This record gives sequence, C-alpha cells and structure tokens, in this order.
Amino acid sequence: MTASLKPVSSAPASVADEARAILARLGVPESAFASTGRPALSPITGEVIAHVRETTPDEAKAAIGRADAAFKAWRKVPAPKRGEFIRLLGEELRAAKDDLGRLVTLEAGKIVSEGLGEVQEMIDICDFAVGLSRQLYGLTIATERADHRMMETWHPLGVCGVISAFNFPVAVWSWNAALALVCGDSVVWKPSEKTLLTALATHAIVERAAKRFGGVPEGLCEVLLGGREIGEILVEDHRVPVLSATGSTAMGRQVGPKLAERFARAILELGGNNAAIVAPSADLDLALRGIAFAAMGTAGQRCTTLRRLFVHESVYDQLVPRLVKVYGSVKIGDPRAEGTLVGPLIDKAAFDNMERALDEARAAGGKVHGGGRYTDVANEGVYARPALVEMPSQTGPVTRETFAPILYVMRYSDFDEVIALHNAVGAGLSSSIFTLNLREAEAFVSAAGSDCGIANVNIGPSGAEIGGAFGGEKETGGGRESGSDAWKAYMRRATNTINYGSTLPLAQGVKFDVDA
Ligand code: NAD
Repeated sequence: MTASLKPVSSAPASVADEARAILARLGVPESAFASTGRPALSPITGEVIAHVRETTPDEAKAAIGRADAAFKAWRKVPAPKRGEFIRLLGEELRAAKDDLGRLVTLEAGKIVSEGLGEVQEMIDICDFAVGLSRQLYGLTIATERADHRMMETWHPLGVCGVISAFNFPVAVWSWNAALALVCGDSVVWKPSEKTLLTALATHAIVERAAKRFGGVPEGLCEVLLGGREIGEILVEDHRVPVLSATGSTAMGRQVGPKLAERFARAILELGGNNAAIVAPSADLDLALRGIAFAAMGTAGQRCTTLRRLFVHESVYDQLVPRLVKVYGSVKIGDPRAEGTLVGPLIDKAAFDNMERALDEARAAGGKVHGGGRYTDVANEGVYARPALVEMPSQTGPVTRETFAPILYVMRYSDFDEVIALHNAVGAGLSSSIFTLNLREAEAFVSAAGSDCGIANVNIGPSGAEIGGAFGGEKETGGGRESGSDAWKAYMRRATNTINYGSTLPLAQGVKFDVDA
C-alpha cells in the first residue's frame, strides 16, 4: 500500500483509485498520509483506500490551544462578517459537491443520491447560518425599576468540540460548525475513525474558504484524527466549554458525566429506536413508501432509521405482506450502481450485531423475513439483506437500537395503548404516525403523544431538514443542533441591567440605605 494519492494503475478505477483521485482534486495534502497510519477502508469492497496519519495526544492538545487563541480573535469579528466566511464555505461546498458526495459514497457506503444529499445538507446549513449571522437577537425586557433598561446579549462561548459518528461523516460537523463559527466560536472536530478521508477532504475545503475570506485566525477550525482516546482529550480539556457529541448512547454514557464533572455544556446526539404507527385510516401506499425509505435507507444506519412499526390489526394483513414483498425485491449491492437502494454495512462487526439481534428475535417468537448476508457482490464488502421481523410483542432486541436494517413489526388494537408502547423504550429521537384521522394526528404530536424530539405525520421518522432543531430526548441525550434556535447552545447569554437615572432603586423593593 502506497501512501501516495496518485492512482496506482491505469486499469478501470478501483474504489481506492477513485477516492485517491478525489482527495487529490479536493486538495488534501500528501502529508496527511503515511504508510504507518490508520487504514481508511471502503465498505463497498473492503479495500484500503489510504493510510491516514493520526493525531498524537500532544498534537491534539496543541490544536486545542490554537483553537482557544483563535477564539479570542474570532469573537471580536462582527457576526455578519463571520457569516461571510460561512457564505464562502457554502460556495466552496457547492463547487465540491460532486466530489465530496462521491467520497461519502466511497468511504461510508451510502448510495449516490444520499452521498450527494449529505453535502447538500452542508450547503443548506451554511445558507441558514449566513442568515443567522445577522439574527443573533437578544430580548429587551421590561424592568420594574424607573430609569433602567434590561436586555440580554449573546456572546461567543469559546472552543466548540465536535465528535461525530461514521454514518453522517460530514453533515454532522457542518450542523455544528456553521452555527458555532457564526456565533464566534472556534471548532475542533474529532470525526469517526471510520471516516477519516471525508474529514480530511472537508478540512481542505474549509481551508480554501478561509483563504478566500482573507485569512481566519490560525486554529479556527482544527481536526483531530484518531480513535476514542483522541476524543477523550477533547472531552476532558477545560479549554473546551461546549462539546457536541454524536454517536451511540454507550458513547454518551461515557462522555456525558465527564462533561458534567467539569460543567461544560453538552450537546448529546445519541442513538435512536424510532417507531411509526400505521393507523386504520392510513394511506397505505404512502405509508409503504415512507416505511421502506425510513427502514432500509442508508442500509438501516441512520440515527433516525425506522426500527419499530406498530400496525393496526384492521390493516395489518393488507400492509405487512406488501412490505415483505418490497423487502424481498429491494436492490442491494454496490452503492455506486444505478438503482441500488441498499448499500453495504460499515463493517463485519455491524453484520454480526445484526445476526445476534435476529437470533434473539427468533428466540422471542419473532418471524424473520429476509436477513442474512447478501453475497451477490464481487468483492469483500459486507452486505446484508434487510430484515422485517414480525414480533408478538415489544421484547428483547426490539427495545434497543441495533445499527442495521432490521424492522420489527407488531400489531396493535388500541390508540392509547400503542402510544404507551411507542414511548416505552429508552431512546427518544424520532417518530411518526400514518393516519388521515385528525384526532389521532394531533394527539400524536400533542404533549401526551410521542415523547420524541421529532414527531411526524404521514412521513417516516427519517430524513430531517436542517431548518428544524434536530435531536431527541431520554437516552438520545437531549441535545439540539441545526435549525430553529439551536444556535443558542453555542453562545453565552448575558443579562444586562443599565441604570441611566440618579437613584439606586433595588429590585423587589429591598431597602439598603447607607450613609454615602
Ligand atoms: P460510536 O458511538 O461508536 O462513535 C461515535 C464517535 O464517538 C466516534 O468519533 C468515536 O471515536 C467517538 N467516541 C467513542 N467513545 C468515545 C469516548 N469515550 N470519548 C470520546 N469520544 C468517543 O458511534 P458510531 O458507530 O460511529 O455511530 C453510530 C451511532 O451514532 C448510532 O447509535 C446512531 O444512532 C448514532 N447517531 C446519532 C445521531 C444523532 O443525531 N442523534 C446522528 C448520527 C448517529
């Protein structure tokens, strides 16, 4: 294996050749690679694309130091000017969309339209953040004291750490970074160790935008490449007052207490065990399409993937056999090929987890349709047949997230009962109901309905837009990022009271007269 980015032969481009050509085009320097580095694999074929030089602990600490110094300069740059940097980043991403989207496909195994969609999401959040840079509004608040004014102001917070998962290798960084940067923070990113190449490519794009901007403070955007040990350095460093961590609930259980111990702000975006309800009045054609995308898209490797499906007994026999048919005919295979809807799993461990969960489901009385290894591919990638499992009840593996394409299907008869079942799992990320009944739809999104951070009607739980705040409750961690007012988590709020009079009235009528 060579450390060079140059294609190694003139034969039809292998995944590795194509990826290396993209990395070179996007401007990733050869110095990022070393034959002794961490192998970056493609799940499409299992081949090594390149060996990436990892960040050492000392380099990580130095990068955080640079980011801290950069923050002190960047916070003084007017917010709309910071927005101009993000506008340029959006332009660079538009120019690089095809290449970066393709690299997402090659490194994370997403089908082509999803790889491109991920970069589009980065562009969208940049557009959002540019507008936001002129809207970091505080309130003016009525004061009880004469000749006083009270207001709140929003200030930059400091270094924003971002830890991201393999399944959204670049979009998650952008949801955080675009906001944090217009808010006046610097950003230190620890991407997944499974997707180092897309991180390097993104960093090269950021550097181009920075150059066009006329230079940003050195260290404004840093990347730490490595495994969890490098992430831990970011989690434990007191110079990082806010950290957004995306990944499994197990990771959140380790990271959350450490952040709490040093009173850092945590934006936790953890696992999901998302459900949909198909009610008696549902448009079944629409439900079928929504369920298929939400459950099988991204090979079941989205945090918002549909994993539990509750179908009313009156429509169960109409819907479920149709779904089983779709599961049997969905096109699995190389995500680069036209028509493929289900690409590879990220690695063999993911497949083994899937198999274990299916065995458990069988033991709990589940009837498994599909599942198992899909071998009709001419390479070493790990492809799984999506599995639909008819379960007698919500037990065993149904109550937890298995990060693979398994959909557990259950019957229900009563609306209140199904809402209770829907909410009776640890995670609280995304949810949906398919119904044409207004009462059910409104009840589902009401205070007594779904307990998730995302609750949809007549669309599946997957595929959020950047305009809304994204995140979930309970074991999903409670964090929010992306749209709406999620930006407030990246800033420090100050309440200011200004006395422009000549007396000193105290709040609540308190008297404290001293001889002055
Ligand atoms: P993971 O938890 O294995 O790793 C995620 C990231 O955390 C990686 O960068 C990893 O190196 C880092 N990490 C792990 N332990 C750490 C520690 N103790 N300290 C610091 N860093 C640590 O997750 P994954 O397999 O990459 O991704 C899949 C998981 O992510 C699923 O559970 C999925 O639901 C979740 N996810 C959630 C969201 C969301 O927004 N809620 C989005 C995408 C993925």
